[in-house]
Amino acid sequence: MAPEIHDTVAGLLREFEQRYTPVRRRLVTAMLAAGRPLTAAEVQAAARDVPQSSVYRNLADLEQVGAVVRVAAADEFTRFELAEGLTDHHHHLLCRGCGKVVDFQLPPAVEASVARAVLAAARRAGFREETHRVDLVGRCRSCQ
Ligand SMILES: [Zn+2]
Ligand SMILES: [Zn+2]
Repeated sequence: MAPEIHDTVAGLLREFEQRYTPVRRRLVTAMLAAGRPLTAAEVQAAARDVPQSSVYRNLADLEQVGAVVRVAAADEFTRFELAEGLTDHHHHLLCRGCGKVVDFQLPPAVEASVARAVLAAARRAGFREETHRVDLVGRCRSCQ
């Protein structure tokens, strides 16, 4: 699966006339290995030889081309993860207290039901849905 992800990221960048540089590949590899949303600091910790300013700039570039998305309960807790086109569809638990983010998936039948419901809502509004985001915002066990 991993080589395909790199091909897809390279393709997304190419659409914006940008290159899949070794630094960008390092960041994508770090996020792929983590398998969960990472703060910019965590991305940097996983790609140590990449300077912090470069981590931020390249994460922003990857976000702009749609390879990476931001996940956050609030701005100060921003985390980054690979976009769903590169990984699996899932939802998040976002803690307002500490910023912790946990991925979760709904049972297939529930997911199908959610997908139908949001599609119907989109149609009524004349909106072309590409994906849905259903994130729970609240407090994790240790922040309650
Ligand atoms: Zn928490
Ligand atoms: Zn869903």
